[in-house]
Amino acid sequence: MTNSFELDDDGNGEHADVVVCVRLTSPLLMPDNVIDICSQCGEAIQHRPHVPKQPRKMCWECIEPLALKMAHKGTLHTILTSEVAEDLLAYERKKSAH
Ligand SMILES: [Zn+2]
Repeated sequence: MTNSFELDDDGNGEHADVVVCVRLTSPLLMPDNVIDICSQCGEAIQHRPHVPKQPRKMCWECIEPLALKMAHKGTLHTILTSEVAEDLLAYERKKSAH
């Protein structure tokens, strides 16, 4: 098996198992981030407002061991939605402008 990557622009992200989120920060990483709770550990997390609704939300701390195990087995499939890709690009541009 081979790890795979997909840029999702047709709503396929709704079929993902998990949305990977970041633990809550103050201030939020992006001002319009949505605050939620990690479905695994219960810690406060944040994610973009437009992430897929169906998959459970988990913090990176919880998903990392599982993701690494899957990556070693070659079964990791990563989906990046076009909205998140655009947000990440804007975030990186803003960061490097300082
Ligand atoms: Zn967690």
